[in-house]
Formats: sequence, structure tokens, C-alpha cells
Amino acid sequence: MFDKILIANRGEIALRILRAAKELGIATVAVHSTADADAMHVRLADESVCIGPPAARDSYLNIPALIAACEITGADAIHPGYGFLSENARFAEVLEHHRIAFIGPKAEHIRIMGDKIEAKRTAKRLGIPCVPGSEGGITDEDEAKRVAKEIGYPVIIKAAAGGGGRGMKVARTEEDLVHALQTAKTEAKAAFGDDAVYIEKYLEKPRHIEIQVLGDGKGNAIHLGERDCSLQRRHQKVWEEGPSPALNTEMRERIGGVVAKAMQELQYAGAGTIEFLYEDGEFYFIEMNTRIQVEHPVTEMITGIDLVNEQIRVAAGHPLSVKQEDIKIEGHAIECRVNAEHPSTFRPSPGTISYFHPPGGLGVRVDSAAYQGYRIPPHYDSLVGKLIVHGRTRNECLMRLRRALDEFVVDGIDTTLPLFRTLVRNPEIQNGQYDIHWLENFLKTGGLGETE
Ligand code: ADP
Repeated sequence: MFDKILIANRGEIALRILRAAKELGIATVAVHSTADADAMHVRLADESVCIGPPAARDSYLNIPALIAACEITGADAIHPGYGFLSENARFAEVLEHHRIAFIGPKAEHIRIMGDKIEAKRTAKRLGIPCVPGSEGGITDEDEAKRVAKEIGYPVIIKAAAGGGGRGMKVARTEEDLVHALQTAKTEAKAAFGDDAVYIEKYLEKPRHIEIQVLGDGKGNAIHLGERDCSLQRRHQKVWEEGPSPALNTEMRERIGGVVAKAMQELQYAGAGTIEFLYEDGEFYFIEMNTRIQVEHPVTEMITGIDLVNEQIRVAAGHPLSVKQEDIKIEGHAIECRVNAEHPSTFRPSPGTISYFHPPGGLGVRVDSAAYQGYRIPPHYDSLVGKLIVHGRTRNECLMRLRRALDEFVVDGIDTTLPLFRTLVRNPEIQNGQYDIHWLENFLKTGGLGETE
């Protein structure tokens, strides 16, 4: 096992990794930018190293500084968390070169899945059902028109290098298509430095359902059920839950089995998520994330498996601690991403938290690096914390979430807590009747009312 892990991240996920390392008896090194000198992950780690100025490209994305920090502290492994360098294949290779273990999948798998065209091709080869669309990238208008005609409108043009919900354009007619192709290419080039795009069928009322996997890198891989992340704003997840209100055991076993088998064939290592759109009983692969995800606690709450612990074990060459038959889905879990944003305009609200009181009690988990007096720096994402609630049934979970949200106090900044207090009381949410467009429509039609 490793002696010392350096955590190349910040915020709640740095804390999450630190906790897993501590429980394994592994020493921890925090890294931080000058803007994060007072951050909780720095306080809780055994050691810390300042790796640069506030801008992420000079600190959390600064590979030489991270390697130097490993050398200074004698860390033998790096956990990248999510975002930042977590899906950077070159980073994984550079670490290998320096004989520092990367707690994540093989560089080769990060690279394949990082290119959505290549990812789709691989998924298809492995027997995973995909959204109908172009075989590869689309270069010219005529090809785009031909493919769109074949699969039928509406279609969506997506950036091969896309991520974070950016670089997607919907076209409902052939006239739309020409314009959408141009804008998608221009936006993809600007956002990702790569203008490769592809086309797929635009699904009108799908749910976003994703399967959590774990692999040991040697051909053993399992699935841990699904998370339903259909409640999104601007293609970004807001509320995640598991199991999905739309699936039954048989459907879960079917898609989980397909995915686990694919990961076995790939000899996938560590934690990963295969994302699907789900409509009319069919699953359509959209992408794979080769890292731990923000919403991973949902799966931890319903399976009792510590996913970060498994990631560390696998990276150290150990087998998974569980087999497929050990995975039992128990009860229901919901996660709310509480952001430092105005609850109806979503304007970022950095600043100082003057009062912080997280909820507690049975089945309530708060993953947050915030504390009273903490100043949220303007340089990074706006996540204040994640509230994850577990109950024996979905109903119990909803009632528990309702009371936990009412207990949660964050003063001094705007947060999205009022949005969640409204959502948890909404009859359609309570019935589990929502698709990926539900939240946007709800917000557009003034569903939030006069929230302050
Ligand atoms: P990103 O990597 O930017 O998150 P994804 O491919 O995972 O992009 O898609 C993000 C979201 O965009 C999905 O959860 C869904 O809401 C929407 N989306 C993507 N592809 C389609 C599609 N073919 N039809 C309808 N919606 C889509």
C-alpha cells in the first residue's frame, strides 16, 4: 500500500480523498494555491505545499509544481479528484515516468474516453448501445445533411473534446443544421482548442442515467447500479439520485451487466461512470467519465462501498474488496449540489460565510470544505457543499431531505438551498416524473416564484 498520497485538488473532494486515505492509514499531502492557504483541506492534511498563484493553470493544473511537491514530501501517489488534471492522459503518463502512482485508470483509457468520437466507437465495439449518429467526426455541410437526414431531425451537434455541458447545438431543420454546425465548430475551437464535432439524434424526453463501475485493471470489473441525474440546468447536474425512479431491478441488471462486461474486456482500472440517455425503455451511451464523480456519494450511500478507498486499493495493485454478488442496493439516496449562487438568477456569489450550520442526524451526509468565516474565493467552482440523504424508501429519503434542507443554514452569501427546498416539495419531483428538460422548463415558467 502507499505510504503517502498527494491530493492534487481542493474543496470538498480534497477532503473526501483525505478521509479515505486516513482510514487506510496513509499519510496525506495537501497542495494549494495562494488563494487557498486557509482552506480546510490544507488544515486537515498531514502536510501541505503551496504550488502557485490563484489561477488554476498556475497552481492546480501546474504539473511540474505537483511533481516537485511529491519529491519534496516523498509522496508515492497522486489522487487527482475530479476536474483539474483528473482526465489528463499526459499527466498520468508523466507521473508514471516519475514513478509516482496515478490513482485513476490507465492513460490509454483516459485518452480514448476523452475523445467523445473515439469513446463512442469503443463503446459500440464493446457492445454498449449508443445514440444513433455519425460514425466519426463531421467535416462538411453535405456530410452533416446526409447523416441528419438518415437519423432524422432533430439532431444535436457535439464537440469531440466537449465537457461541462459546453459545445452542444440542436438543429431541428436542415436550415438550422448549417448554422448549428458552424457555431458548434467555432465554439468547440474556442473552448477546447479542437473543432472536431459529431452528430447524434437529439432525444426529446430522455432521462440521464449513469452506471458506476469499478475495475481492478486486470479484467475484473463490477457495476454498482445507477444514478439518475436528469435534473440539470445548462446540461449541468443539480440533483442526483439512486436508484432511478424510472428503472426496475431487471433493467438495472441488464444494463449493468452489459457495462460490467465491457469494462472487463477493456481491463479498466479504478472508478468510472458510463453515462446514458434513457428513453422509452432504451439506453443510449453518451460518454464515459474516467474519474470519481461529484455525485459518487449517492452510490456509496445505497451500496455501503467506499469508492475512493477502492480507487486507492486498485492503484496500489490490490484486487477490488468486493465482488458483483456482494453489491446490494439498499434504500434510496439523493444528493443536492449546493452552490454559492443566487437561487433563481444563478449569479455567482463568492464572499465570506458568516454563519454555517450543516444538518445532521440519521442518514444525512454533508460533504463540504466550508466553515464559518470561510471566504469562498472567486477563482474556482461555486460548490459550497453536497447534501446527501439516505432513506429506506424514496419517500423516507424525500422527507428526510426536506427536514435536512430546513436545518441547513449558510449566511453571508447566496446559495441554491432555497431552490432545493422548493424542488423537494414539488409533486412531479415527488412522483419521480422528470426528464432532462424538466428543471429548465420549471425555472423558465417561474416555478420558483418569489425566491429571495
Ligand atoms: P458533457 O461531457 O459536456 O457533460 P454529455 O455528452 O455528457 O456532455 O451531455 C451532457 C448533457 O447534454 C446530457 O446529460 C443531456 O442532458 C444533454 N445531451 C447530450 N446528448 C444528447 C442527445 N443526443 N439528446 C438529448 N440531449 C443530450
